[in-house]
Amino acid sequence: MNNRGYYSQFGGAYLPEILVATFDELAAAFAAVKNDPQFWQEYQALMATYSCRPTPLTLAENLTRHFGGARIYIKREDLNHTGAHKANNVMGQGLLVKRMGKTRVIAETGAGQHGVATATMAARFGYDCTIYMGEVDVERQRPNVFWMEQLGAQVVPVKDGTRILKDAINEAFRDWVSNMDNTHYVLGTACGPHPFPEMVTHFQSIIGQEAREQIMAREGRLPARVYACVGGGSNAMGIFAGFMDDDAVELVGVEAGGRGLASGAHASRLCSSDAAIGVAQGYKTYFLQDAEGQMQETHSIAAGLDYVGVSPILSHLKETGRVRFEAATDREVVDSMRLAIRKEGLIPALESAHAFVQAFKEAPALAPDEALIINQSGRGDKDIFTVADAFEDPGWREFIIRKAAQYQA
Ligand SMILES: *Cc1c(COP(=O)(O)O)cnc(C)c1O
Repeated sequence: MNNRGYYSQFGGAYLPEILVATFDELAAAFAAVKNDPQFWQEYQALMATYSCRPTPLTLAENLTRHFGGARIYIKREDLNHTGAHKANNVMGQGLLVKRMGKTRVIAETGAGQHGVATATMAARFGYDCTIYMGEVDVERQRPNVFWMEQLGAQVVPVKDGTRILKDAINEAFRDWVSNMDNTHYVLGTACGPHPFPEMVTHFQSIIGQEAREQIMAREGRLPARVYACVGGGSNAMGIFAGFMDDDAVELVGVEAGGRGLASGAHASRLCSSDAAIGVAQGYKTYFLQDAEGQMQETHSIAAGLDYVGVSPILSHLKETGRVRFEAATDREVVDSMRLAIRKEGLIPALESAHAFVQAFKEAPALAPDEALIINQSGRGDKDIFTVADAFEDPGWREFIIRKAAQYQA
C-alpha cells in the first residue's frame, strides 16, 4: 500500500473537500495505534473478556471422514459476542474512538448485523449511536431493528433512492459532514475510502494470527488452503492476513453466486464478467455495474454478501494472483449448511456456508495428511427465517401462520 491508501490501482479516498480533514485525522489516529503494542494488548484483553477470544479452531472429524481427504478445521468466529467476526472490527474502532475523545458513533447497515454490532459496542463504551438503514431493509429486518433499539441506538429509516444499503451509506456520510467534531463513522467492512480498508483488516487480522498459531500447534504444519466467504471482504482479509506471507498456503475467497453466474442474479464481483473497475462510495474497486456505470441489482441468499463493491485490497490480490476467487450458488449453500449441521452440529451463517461449499468441493482431492481451514464467520441462528423456508420445514410454516393469526385476532 502506498501512503494515499492505494493497493496498485485500487483503493484511495475520493472525498468531498469537507471530509478531507476528518479522514486525515482518522488516518493519523489509526497510524498511531497501529504501531502501539499497548493498544493491541488492550484490544486483545477486551476481546478475551467480552467476546470469547481466542476463538477455537475446531477439527471437523466427521466431515473429514465423510470427504476422505484433507483434515478439515473450522475457525469459530461464530462464537464471538453478537455471533460473528463483526465484533472484532466494531470493538477495535470503539477503542480508537475513545482515544480520539469522540462521544458519538454512526453506522450504516443493510441486513442489520453490523448495526447490532455497532449498537452493542456503543452501549458498552457509553457512546450515543445512530444507525442508518434503508427503509426497505428496516421492514425486512425487524428482529435486528428491535435489538438495535433495545441497545439504545436510534435507527433512522432512509427514504431516499431505492431505500437500501447504498442510500443508507450516503445518509451516514451526510450526518458525518455535519457532526465531524464529536462523531466517528464505524464502517462495517474492508471497503470505503482510506484508511477504512486497512483499518478494518488490521482489527480482523486477529483471526488469522490466532488461526496460524492454532494450526501450527495442532498439525505442526501450515494448512494447504484457507477458505473464507467474501462480502465486503473483512472476514476474508482477517483470516488471510495470518497466512499472506506463507506462499505455500493457497487463499480462496468465495463470493455469492446467487442463482448462478449466468443468471445475472448474484453478487460476484471478482469471478464473474459482470463487474468493472470504477470509483463509487469514495474508493476504487470492482463494482457490479453496467456499461454506463449504473450500479446493478445484486442477489444472494446471504444478506451479508449482497453488496455491489468489494475490498480494494482483495481486488489487488486478485490481480496479483495471491487469492483465488470462486462463487457458490444459493442452492449449494443450503446443501452445505445442512451437511455441516447434521455431521458436526455446527450452524454456520448462510454467508459462511459459501466458504464451506468450496472447501467441500476440494477436500476430497487433497491428501489425508494435509489440512485446510474454513472461516466460519458467523452463526446461522439469525438465518432461521430463510433456512427454514429453504429446508421446506412444515412445522416452521405452521408456526409462522399460527403466530400471524394471533396478531390478527
Ligand atoms: C457481514 C457478514 C459477512 C460479510 O462481510 P465481510 O466483510 O465480507 O466479512 C460474512 N459473514 C457473516 C456471518 C456476516 O455477518
